[in-house]
Amino acid sequence: MKFAVRITDCGPLSFRSGRETTSPKTLEYVPGSVLMGGLAATHDLLYNDANQHDAMFFHEETSFGNLYPARFEQKRLQGEVDPIYPIPATAASCKRFPGFRSDQKNEELPHHGVRDTLIPWGLFCLCQQTRIDALEKFTTCPYPDCDHPLDRFPGFYRRRRFKATELGKASVSLGLRVRTGIDRTTGSAHQSILYSREFLQPGMTFWGAATVPDEQADRFQAFIQKANESGLLRLGNNRTRGFGRVTLAVTTIEEQDIESLRQRIQSFDAKLRAQAKQYDIQHPHALYLPITLTADAIVYDRLLRQRTGLDGDALDDLGIKGAERIYCNSSVRQVMGWNTLWRTPKADDIAITMGSTFLFGFSRNLDDDALLQRLHTLERRGIGIRQREGFGRLLVASPFHCEEDA
Ligand SMILES: [Zn+2]
Repeated sequence: MKFAVRITDCGPLSFRSGRETTSPKTLEYVPGSVLMGGLAATHDLLYNDANQHDAMFFHEETSFGNLYPARFEQKRLQGEVDPIYPIPATAASCKRFPGFRSDQKNEELPHHGVRDTLIPWGLFCLCQQTRIDALEKFTTCPYPDCDHPLDRFPGFYRRRRFKATELGKASVSLGLRVRTGIDRTTGSAHQSILYSREFLQPGMTFWGAATVPDEQADRFQAFIQKANESGLLRLGNNRTRGFGRVTLAVTTIEEQDIESLRQRIQSFDAKLRAQAKQYDIQHPHALYLPITLTADAIVYDRLLRQRTGLDGDALDDLGIKGAERIYCNSSVRQVMGWNTLWRTPKADDIAITMGSTFLFGFSRNLDDDALLQRLHTLERRGIGIRQREGFGRLLVASPFHCEEDA
C-alpha cells in the first residue's frame, strides 16, 4: 500500500552530503535512506522484535522515497496528496526576476515565469545542430521589455491537481550553527576546534511517498503514531547535539494509472512534432518521450560499471528495446552514507542526480502495449539499485517539459 509521508513538525535537521570535514553543507531534502534507517532504529527501540522488523523493512515491496520541502508561498499548494518533484535540469527562468508566475506576491518583485528548454534542445539535436533558430526563444527572457539572460532554475515544485496551471516552488530555510569541539579528557572546550554546520530550520515541512506490503499497512500506521508519541524518532546528522527531531503524518494515496501515463506521453509527443513542423525539422522516430529523474539514481551497466547517464543501451538493460537517446541534460554526484543499525559506513556510489532529463526517440509507437506497460512499471518501481531507499525514481513524459510560460 502506498502512503504519503509528511514531516509536519521538526527541530533543526542536517543531512551531510559527504564525509569531508571542511564542508558544512546540508542536503535540502530528507533522503529516503535516512527516513528508512531512522524508522528502522525507532522500531527496534519500541518493539525489539526481529520478525516484525523484517516483515516491515526487509520485504521486497517496502520502499521509502525522499521527502522534499513542502512549504509554498501559495497556501492552496500546501496539500497532503499532490506530489512534489525536483525541478528538471531543463527548466529556465529570468536571471534577474526568476520564479513561477503564480508564486508572484507583489508587483514590486515580479516573477518572469519558468519555461522548459527540453523540446527546443531536442529539435536542435534532431536537425544535427544546424538550426540555431530552434533555440532562439531561449537566449533571453521573453517577458515584455526584459532582455536579461535565462538561467537554470533549481529547487522543488508542486503542481496542484486538477489545476494544471498552478505551480509553485518550495521554499527552503537554511541556517548555520557554530560549535566548539569538546576535549575528551577535561570535558571542556577543546582548543582550536571550532566548526560550523548548515542545517534546515526548525518548523519546515516535507513530503514524500512510501510503500509497505498491504498486510503491514495497519501496523505501519500504528507504528508511526507510537513513534510520534514516544518522541524517539531522530533523522540525520548531529542527533546527539539536538538535531533531527521529527513528527510524521501518513495518509494512503493511489498509484498513478496507466491511462494517464499514455495521455502524458501522447501530449508530449504531439507537442514536439508540432514544434518540429513549425521549424521544418525532420522527426523520423515513431515516438518521442522524455525520462526525468525525480531522485538520484545509481545504475550499473552489464560490466558493473556505474552509469553517468541513461542511453538506449541502459533502457535495453531495463527491457525497453529500440530507444535512441536524442538529448540529455544530466550530472552526477558521489553518494556516501552511514548504516545506523549496523554502525558501519555504506559503500560509496556514483549517482545520476535528480532532475536529470533524457529525451528518447523510439522505433515503435504507443500501440505497442508492452512498451507502455514496461514504462509504467519503471515509473512505479524505479531503476538501478537501492530503490527501497528512494533511489532511482523517475517520471516518464513529465508535463513540466511542455511548460512554455509557467
Ligand atoms: Zn526577465
